[in-house]
Amino acid sequence: MKPSKRQDTYRHQGLRNQLVRTIQKKGISDPSVLAAIEKVPRHFFFDSSFLEYAYEDQPFPIGAGQTISQPFTVAFQTSLLSLSKGDKVLEIGTGSGYQACILAELGAKVFSIERQKTLFEKTRSLLAEMGYQRIKLFYGDGYKGLPSFAPFDKVLVTAAAPYIPEPLIRQLKPGGILVIPVGDDIQIMTTIHKISETETRKEEHGNFRFVPMLEDKAREE
Ligand code: SAH
Repeated sequence: MKPSKRQDTYRHQGLRNQLVRTIQKKGISDPSVLAAIEKVPRHFFFDSSFLEYAYEDQPFPIGAGQTISQPFTVAFQTSLLSLSKGDKVLEIGTGSGYQACILAELGAKVFSIERQKTLFEKTRSLLAEMGYQRIKLFYGDGYKGLPSFAPFDKVLVTAAAPYIPEPLIRQLKPGGILVIPVGDDIQIMTTIHKISETETRKEEHGNFRFVPMLEDKAREE
């Protein structure tokens, strides 16, 4: 991260440290994931009038009807990816960009897709300001994945998918993992391990609630 006009004070760092302890108590144990949460200033992703909410373990509205995921959920999904340094990771649903920064802090090469143009543009300038130029952001429809950059080691979906889009499995390397919350009102956090080009193994990890994964790009007014 390069110095930015936003300030990360000792107070923010202290709040972040408490947040890390909270999500640790809720069951996140991977030290590298906890270190990434400790490092990324989550308040940079909030409008200044809502800063006091940035270090609660809660999701929060970020405009355009979208939310920044709850820190526990970010940590949980990240842990399920079992990242290794240098992994090529495709994220569906850039939103605020917070999750993408956590992945980048863990040494992943991040490719992230967002279907809301205004959010895509806002997040692109924030991440540039924060010095995360290596995160590649795309405006498009995550149901299609990113065929021209495939295959990926890991794919992470951060919106509620009504079903598992086939292109996302196709674009995984054998040995790769897809993490995706599947369902309408409530989602089951699901992992698909791609064992070979023809074989997959599915696991389920409890209930979550995300904003919906919608087909196609949003129509902008
Ligand atoms: N990962 C985000 C949280 C995302 S909320 C963060 O860290 O803040 C879910 C996001 O998925 C929203 O921004 C929504 O616009 C986006 N989304 C929904 N359907 C999509 C699709 N088909 N393709 C790409 N993005 C999608």
